[in-house]
Amino acid sequence: MREYKHLLLANKAWAAERLEENPDYFTRQIVGQQPEFLWIGCSDSRVAPDQLTNTEPGGMFIHRNIANLVDPGDQNLMSVVQFAVEVLKVGHIIVCGHYACGGIQAALEGGVDGHVHDWLAIARNVVDNHRDELDALPEDQRANRLVELNVHDQLVQLARTDVVQKAFAAGQPLELHGWVYDLRDGLLKPLMEIDANTPLEAVTKPEKVLV
Ligand SMILES: [Zn+2]
Repeated sequence: MREYKHLLLANKAWAAERLEENPDYFTRQIVGQQPEFLWIGCSDSRVAPDQLTNTEPGGMFIHRNIANLVDPGDQNLMSVVQFAVEVLKVGHIIVCGHYACGGIQAALEGGVDGHVHDWLAIARNVVDNHRDELDALPEDQRANRLVELNVHDQLVQLARTDVVQKAFAAGQPLELHGWVYDLRDGLLKPLMEIDANTPLEAVTKPEKVLV
């Protein structure tokens, strides 16, 4: 059987199981969505946010790109952030990096071209911002430390966006969380948090949890 047909068969089985558990499952879903969380994560196939947090459909608004980067000029990302904050009124935005991220590795070591190379410009800025710390580390620890520093820089960048600043100023309940996912044990490890009262210029670098 062609590989992709497994997806369609698995979907039929999944839908049937949901109905067996709760005959209203899909009727409820039609009404709309009220997720509490926006997840900004890496496109890596091993880091499936709803699966690893056991979140049902409807529980999480999701944006993924290579290396979980926050570019305020990226209309794709910013429209997701705006919709999540202004319409869905999520209470939490999570930026999540992960152990052994290929995008982060490439930002550090090169070896990619074309669109991927161009996209990773923001991640290369993170390398430049933290050059001294990265250079001082043993070579095999640099990429995973960069994963953590990247989450820090992207979360601060997210906090500075017009959408988040507007929500903070209006007193809308909103917290930003920086996490990493460790592929070795399947666990999410929190690094840092930002809310309306956090002075952004004073946000310190996260502790090492992946190395
Ligand atoms: Zn990745």
